[in-house]
Amino acid sequence: MIFLDAAATTPVRREVLEAMWPYLSGEFGNPSSHHTLGEAAASALADARAAVAGVLGCRSGEITFTSGGTEADNLAVKGIALARQAVDPTLNRVVISAVEHPAVEESARYLARFHGFTVDVVPVDSTGLVTPQALAALLRPETALVSIMYANNEVGTIQPVTELAELARAQGVPFHTDAVQAAGWLPLDVKALGVDALSISGHKLGAPKGCGVLYVRGRTRIEPLLHGGGQERGKRSGTENVAGAVGLATALTLAQSAQLQTADHVTALRDGFIRDVLGAVPGAVLTGHPTERLPSVASFCFPGTSGESVLLELERQGVVCSSGSACAAGSDAPSPVLTALGIEAEVAQTAVRFSFESTITGSGLAAAAEAVGTAVGSVRTLGRG
Ligand code: PLP
Repeated sequence: MIFLDAAATTPVRREVLEAMWPYLSGEFGNPSSHHTLGEAAASALADARAAVAGVLGCRSGEITFTSGGTEADNLAVKGIALARQAVDPTLNRVVISAVEHPAVEESARYLARFHGFTVDVVPVDSTGLVTPQALAALLRPETALVSIMYANNEVGTIQPVTELAELARAQGVPFHTDAVQAAGWLPLDVKALGVDALSISGHKLGAPKGCGVLYVRGRTRIEPLLHGGGQERGKRSGTENVAGAVGLATALTLAQSAQLQTADHVTALRDGFIRDVLGAVPGAVLTGHPTERLPSVASFCFPGTSGESVLLELERQGVVCSSGSACAAGSDAPSPVLTALGIEAEVAQTAVRFSFESTITGSGLAAAAEAVGTAVGSVRTLGRG
């Protein structure tokens, strides 16, 4: 099998599992317990927090462990907007982009449904980019928060986060970015990025599902979503997932230390794959930005097919990929992300996303590109579009 669906999830890396194992077995303590076992767990958690903070260039106290990217996004969007509104009730608008993951978009919609917020949606251009001008046009004195993702999960487009964050913060508006797809591939120094909050998910990086991180800049007010024993400095109650935190910290450290080297190598492989697919499939269209895109994502529309049929045909040939985001899989509606890029519904239904792990090889991708040519050809011939 050639696995080209790493943006959906990745297997747990051996080094990560080995780092986690003690905290799933002998060192099983609760970090809040005042005995040796508890202290060992608390110390592992502190080390994991320091390691994540090291990668992000922030203080340990600015790191909150969560149950994943979805929770980190919910906590950032709801938590920051509600905390600001509580202090100043006129702060009742949030700005998101038109290509956010549902974890951000639905959090913003929740604020509108239950807390009187208005959601301002920044459009993207045909490559999926938010321009600073488009964001500037939506910033108002009532804006409580801006949340714009670092890199898109369906088409891989990388946003100019530093510029966008600077714009928002110049007007006193905190800026959150969903870095779930960016982590492991792009620089994550939160000071260089200039962001107030940043979300990461473990399972996109070789850590297990169900662990994530939210960075929140020191003085940013944030209302917790989960109330209880006050763990995570009161930002996220609940007994900590010690092994998950250790796993995430290990995976993030490994991925970011290899990042520069891996990103260049995988970018070259990705560009070769894009060329091969465009050569093998007449009429194929690359979606997203031609260069400002994640090293790991190549996404296309194959007019005259249906994405789902191509997917099935590819799986028969041993290539596993996705027709869009895993979250939207099975839905008949065209992807809102592709629609936001101005792609017509009929063409958007033909979308297929290929996403790579850092271990991908040139020969694997060459074989996959050939399989894409054959799969699209047979779907078109059989009229299964
Ligand atoms: N944000 C983005 C951009 C994602 O791609 C995903 C997962 O697909 C998430 C958030 C949600 O992360 P998790 O699966 O850890 O809840």
